[in-house]
Amino acid sequence: MKILSVNAGSSSLKFQLLQMPEEFEIASGLVERIGNKNAEFKINFNGSSSKQSDLVVLDHSVAVDLVIKGLLEHKIISSLDEIQGVGHRVVQGGETFKESVVIDDDVVLKIAALNDLAPLHNPANIIGINAFRKAIPNVLHVAVFDTTFHQTMPEVNFLYGTPYEWYEKHGVRKYGFHGTSHQYVSEEAQKRLGKEESKIIVAHIGNGASVTAVLNGKSIDTSMGLTPLEGFPMGTRSGNVDPSIFQLMQQKEGYSLEKTLNELNKKSGYLGISGVSHDSRDIVSAANEGNHRAKLALDIQAKRIVDYIASYYVLLGGLDALVFTAGIGENAKEVRSLVCKRLEVLGIIIDDEKNNSRGDKEIQHKDSKVKIWVIPTNEEVMIARDVLRLQNSN
Ligand code: AMP
Repeated sequence: MKILSVNAGSSSLKFQLLQMPEEFEIASGLVERIGNKNAEFKINFNGSSSKQSDLVVLDHSVAVDLVIKGLLEHKIISSLDEIQGVGHRVVQGGETFKESVVIDDDVVLKIAALNDLAPLHNPANIIGINAFRKAIPNVLHVAVFDTTFHQTMPEVNFLYGTPYEWYEKHGVRKYGFHGTSHQYVSEEAQKRLGKEESKIIVAHIGNGASVTAVLNGKSIDTSMGLTPLEGFPMGTRSGNVDPSIFQLMQQKEGYSLEKTLNELNKKSGYLGISGVSHDSRDIVSAANEGNHRAKLALDIQAKRIVDYIASYYVLLGGLDALVFTAGIGENAKEVRSLVCKRLEVLGIIIDDEKNNSRGDKEIQHKDSKVKIWVIPTNEEVMIARDVLRLQNSN
């Protein structure tokens, strides 16, 4: 059975066509710069790839047409009937969605009702859902939320120290994100540990990044909060700051609330500290060439990642495995090393030679009390698994 996993962002649309239940990737691709006249469409299949540039893609429905045309033209499918289910990544499910759901008009309205909690993400997710439901109307569409895996957090961990009425009236609390990734990777780690009772910390470090404490397969705390801005410095996001910054920047620079928020989301993190780039590859090479601020960007991030890992070590009452995943966690040995060197006091010891090798691997030193794994994440497979599960139960 062929299932399409869709991840619609504000100006991009990523997809993967999977053969299920084998979890085999048939094709994947990306439409970038939606809303512009210089959009790009890339599709990968059968070990080859094709790219079109300078396309006029003014909205998501044009992007969806491109994806469907691409699948048909490259004979990846012979008709749309071959696609038997579509899974959509939705960033914010609030407390409304405690698990993945089959999408109908009512579900779309409920997702839209959460727009205030994820103004940068949910509206784009809905546009993607609507465009695909229109293009492929006769199959099951399923919404898979970034937040559901974290719905097991106890209130002592998800509530802020803000007035309780803010939570009651407006849902002000930590929700956590990257849930499909944290779940996929922690389930894999749990399998490798070979025991139900397990203490795992997942460090999902990509352009967006979060750390999660997983006790016996359930998320009990995570670094992201009401929005994906909370936590430690990322590619362009600041992570935690003192909210008084808003007042100071208004007084000193005349910044509006929106302007400061935008700077914290898009001009901070690696990019803001280093002034070099948001991309870890550029940061690592600049740091290696002696650029002080690039080195600082890596050190500040590592320090703050470790703040979370150490606190979750205590919260979990020990640790069986620390797992690195996502673009940086999987590929940037320098970042893994900077993090782990600061954790030696907890008996979490990295083996430098093993850390240098590529791919899925075990990288702890023989004297380490804790397993350290690199496990590639696969959010698309997680989404397709949920489509399959709901199809079977419908
Ligand atoms: P993600 O958001 O998970 O796609 O991760 C994006 C980040 O992963 C970017 O900062 C990339 O620089 C980083 N990344 C991807 N591939 C590599 C690589 N081979 N080496 C170092 N960093 C990488």
